[in-house]
Amino acid sequence: MDSCLFCKIIAGDIPSKTIYENDYVMAFDDIEPKAPVHVLIIPKKHISTINDLDDSDKNLCGELFLAAQKIAKIKKITTSGFRCIMNTNSDGGQTVFHIHMHVLGGRKLNWPPG
Ligand code: AMP
Ligand code: ZN
Repeated sequence: MDSCLFCKIIAGDIPSKTIYENDYVMAFDDIEPKAPVHVLIIPKKHISTINDLDDSDKNLCGELFLAAQKIAKIKKITTSGFRCIMNTNSDGGQTVFHIHMHVLGGRKLNWPPG
C-alpha cells in the first residue's frame, strides 16, 4: 500500500534496524523506544487493524507470536520477561495503520498500562 509507512519499510524505501525477518513477517527496532528492548513485528501483508483480519490470516497471526519468541531470544529477555502489545484504533492508541506487535522488555513494565 503506497501511503503506508510500514509498507515503505518492508519495501526498503524507509530505513529500519531489522532484527528478524522471514517470508511472512519483519521485525525492527521502534524509532522511539519505550523500554530498553522495543521491537515492532509487522506482517509483510498490509492489514490496517486487528478488525481487518479474517480467517485466511490465522497462520500469519501465529507467525507474529513465533517471531516475538525469536526476538526475545535474540534480545536475551526470555527469562526476564517481556510484553507483546497490539494497539487498535483511537482508544487503543494506534498511530500506524498497518498491524504491528510491540515487543517490550529489558525493564520491569508497569501494570495496568496507562
Ligand atoms: P502504534 O502507536 O501502536 O500504532 O505504534 C506505532 C509505533 O511505530 C510507535 O511506537 C512509533 O514509535 C513507531 N514508529 C513510527 N515510525 C517509525 C519508523 N520509521 N521506524 C520505526 N518505528 C517507527
Ligand atoms: Zn502497510
